[in-house]
Amino acid sequence: MSADPNCIFCKIVAGQIPCKKVYEDEELLGFHDIHPWAPVHILLIPKQHIANLYDAQAEHNALFGRMLGLAPRLMRELGVENGFRTLINTGADGMQEVYHLHMHVMGGPRPWSKG
Ligand code: 5GP
Ligand code: ZN
Repeated sequence: MSADPNCIFCKIVAGQIPCKKVYEDEELLGFHDIHPWAPVHILLIPKQHIANLYDAQAEHNALFGRMLGLAPRLMRELGVENGFRTLINTGADGMQEVYHLHMHVMGGPRPWSKG
């Protein structure tokens, strides 16, 4: 599976940097964001290194579908029953900070610190 040795999320996938894991399977990892905007704020990432949606290929479509399908399941498991936001930032103008594709999933009672 492709990994970038300088990528912080690849290091999380490899277990070199700790995370508060909420989900893992062969292809995907879910963990709490280190600077949450909302009472519950998780990141869902593919384990393989894909920098962002510009680098995504048609062969990844099923993977992205699985990420979307997992979001409501994980939110429910984390006690979020009243709605949530999903967000994928892409590139500089998209405010992407970490260049390993990730989907933010944020929920919980308002107000939130951001978003
Ligand atoms: P972006 O702006 O790229 O969409 O979001 C990157 C997110 O990754 C930010 O919300 C940031 O708080 C989170 N983040 C950055 N480094 C780490 C880390 O080492 N661990 C965790 N759990 N989250 C991180
Ligand atoms: Zn990576």
